Amino acid sequence: MSNLETRPAEVTAGPASGGPASGGPASGGPGAVVAGPAAAEVLRPREVPLGGPRAMTVRRTLPQRQRSLIGAWCFIDHYGPDQVVATGGMRVPPHPHTGLQTISWLLRGMVEHRDSAGNHALIRPGELNLMTAGRGISHSEVSTPDTPVLHGVQLWAALPSASRFAEPGFAQYVPPLVRADGLWARVFLGSLLGSSSPVATHSPLLGAEVSIDAGAVARIPVEVTHEHGVLVDGGPVALDGTPLSTGELGYLTPGRDAIELAAPGAAARVLILGGTPLGEQIVMWWNFVGRSHDEIAGFRADWQARIGAAPGGDRQRFDLPVGNTLPPLPAPPLPAVTLRPRQ
Ligand code: MN
Repeated sequence: MSNLETRPAEVTAGPASGGPASGGPASGGPGAVVAGPAAAEVLRPREVPLGGPRAMTVRRTLPQRQRSLIGAWCFIDHYGPDQVVATGGMRVPPHPHTGLQTISWLLRGMVEHRDSAGNHALIRPGELNLMTAGRGISHSEVSTPDTPVLHGVQLWAALPSASRFAEPGFAQYVPPLVRADGLWARVFLGSLLGSSSPVATHSPLLGAEVSIDAGAVARIPVEVTHEHGVLVDGGPVALDGTPLSTGELGYLTPGRDAIELAAPGAAARVLILGGTPLGEQIVMWWNFVGRSHDEIAGFRADWQARIGAAPGGDRQRFDLPVGNTLPPLPAPPLPAVTLRPRQ
């Protein structure tokens, strides 16, 4: 999916940005109380229209003022269940990406994906579709005509410096449904509950859809070095005792070896996203991840040149999706000033 905001803000995220600390409790002197892991932080979604006359709206929980990164996860859009007849469905024209991987995870409906690396795929519920932008890719995403209801999540993971100019690519994987005490899970990236995804990531990442039985309290062992985000698709749930409603994202610092998820009422469904803190400062604007404002401006110029919207630029960075029929999406204007890093 594309960030279709007409005036996207530039987001600087990472350890040099002065953002919220993700480490454990400070060491104290004699008599200091050694605290356990902090309670879950609740991140609330904001509604963002994807554009068009019958705009489909997504609920964005990352990035936001409170937090920009969870591991390498840098973008979380949650949408639906939407009646396509009312929203127009998903119709995202060709747009570019750099320096990240996109993960489409559908719960209902079907989306047709085309990218400039020559990939043409149908994205179905329960199947991982991971696109690596690396040095530059463009893609289009259109819900299929026989999709009456659309429901899913679009995620981005920032690539670390060592691999952010990797070759563009696309991977699919159908994770098995695994059963554990009080829950069902599909692990699409990383490892959880004995299920491991074979799809490569460029930093340690976890992505899993987890359904909690009605009334159950599930204890899920996790990597102690990871920080985690739990996106509630159907709640309410309690995350380590903190109540979360549908659409909210609970954030947990590293330093815990398990997380507890309770479904106090009906059965609940969440996405668990985890990863080791990226440890790098990134700059995000529109659909690009880079390391500086000037680099982002260069990516924008290259895309505008490629689609014939401006002269100059490196026309080799981006190609257009093969077989696409929609006109490409021009980049919005850059912010007039370089925004200060978010706190
Ligand atoms: Mn996209």
